[in-house]
Amino acid sequence: MVKNIVNSQKEYFSSGATRDYNFRMESLNKLKNSILKYEDEINSSMKLDLNKSKAETYITEIGIILDEISFHQRHLKKWMKKKHVKTSMAQIPGKCFITPEPYGTVLIISPWNYPLQLCLLPLVGSISSGNTAIIKPSEYTPHTSDIISKIISDAFPKEYISVVQGGVSETTLLLEEKFDYIFFTGSSNVGKIVMSAASNHLTPVTLELGGKSPAIVDESANIKLSARRIAFGKVINAGQTCVAPDYLLIHKSVKEEFITEFKNALNSFFVDKDMSSMVNIINEAHYNRLKNLMRDEHIILGGTFDDDRKFIEPTLIDEVTLSSPIMRDEIFGPILPIISYSNLSECIEYIANFEKPLALYIFSENKENIAKVTGSCSFGGGCINDTIVHLSNPNLPFGGVGNSGIGSYHGKKSFDTFTHYKSIFKQSSIFDVPFRYMPYTDKKLNIIK
Ligand code: NAD
Repeated sequence: MVKNIVNSQKEYFSSGATRDYNFRMESLNKLKNSILKYEDEINSSMKLDLNKSKAETYITEIGIILDEISFHQRHLKKWMKKKHVKTSMAQIPGKCFITPEPYGTVLIISPWNYPLQLCLLPLVGSISSGNTAIIKPSEYTPHTSDIISKIISDAFPKEYISVVQGGVSETTLLLEEKFDYIFFTGSSNVGKIVMSAASNHLTPVTLELGGKSPAIVDESANIKLSARRIAFGKVINAGQTCVAPDYLLIHKSVKEEFITEFKNALNSFFVDKDMSSMVNIINEAHYNRLKNLMRDEHIILGGTFDDDRKFIEPTLIDEVTLSSPIMRDEIFGPILPIISYSNLSECIEYIANFEKPLALYIFSENKENIAKVTGSCSFGGGCINDTIVHLSNPNLPFGGVGNSGIGSYHGKKSFDTFTHYKSIFKQSSIFDVPFRYMPYTDKKLNIIK
């Protein structure tokens, strides 16, 4: 079945239909209209899968996709143009240009944490670049995956864009096929499996992965704002965000104030401590993993949970060490461990203990400190005096480095990701320079030199 879909997409791609500008624009419109048509069902499936509220669903899923579609529609004509570049002296009067072309048939594999956005945002890039696509959403958000199937089958024929649902075995079958591009979002471990499968066909990949993203708060920072923005990053989607601040490095002189302000921020987010609107932990395995991470740690705020709805209260854990279990892997939950420091260099050394993170956040009013951290730590992207919101600007390419990913997307970068740039030299037939032809004599060499 998978093979049939791939073959029909390759045939459809060969027809040339997807390359046309009007076709791409119309397809982006169809995607937008289908999302809007199913908006109520998207909201109810997000509620069922994650307890995600309507507002959070719009802000973190639907709104981001609609903005991306508009951005692509505004710029597509310009992006599709061939670009003339300088011709070297030896090639005059020929002409050189670079022309964008779609890769062909692409595979998009997505995780569960932003189940709609992480399927459809890369799809926008695939459509605007003129590819056909197969989408494999996550098996852990079955209601949303069903709606994604409806959105897509309502708008597009299978030979152009289709959804294959399933888990490891279905993805493994898909990965046996020869795709022209694979776009994967998920964990670093599965990223390695995807890259290894892609290498069998020399298929290029984008890997959008995770990691432990630090937040640093120095002694010059606005503590009230820092606490509010870090709390936002840890609470939205219950911390199940690839760019959530994973742990906090804070100057010891402002730690107590930060803890008070963090508490105040939570009180302002959840009136009367009603956290019923907060997203739940995705499944039993992750819920138990997070509960275990809190065990034996010094909890200074939060720490309660609710087995019935798999809910974990936003939690602060004081002074963890490098060997604490919570510092081993990406937390992916609403728990923030705190490590205090005296000297900024300690932070840089501390961060170097981990793989390169997807994001880094520095809260500071001190230009030198900001430059020191952003200049010496390697990370995918991030914010100064904020968390997470860097990913909402289509002018900022989004992606990791090292263990947190390969490649990037959003905005023009999405178009580039799904595009092969073909370099072409158009030779003139008016005259022919003889030097390049054999025989290669010393006399020729002297003239050329
Ligand atoms: P995951 O890697 O377990 O799963 C991602 C996808 O891969 C799913 O569709 C799943 O069905 C498939 N998959 C899982 N195991 C597989 C296997 N053995 N072989 C083939 N396919 C397999 O990730 P997840 O738990 O769904 O998502 C959480 C991870 O994703 C976190 O590490 C997070 O940081 C990362 N993430 C990264 C970004 C980003 O943009 N960089 C965004 C969201 C999540």
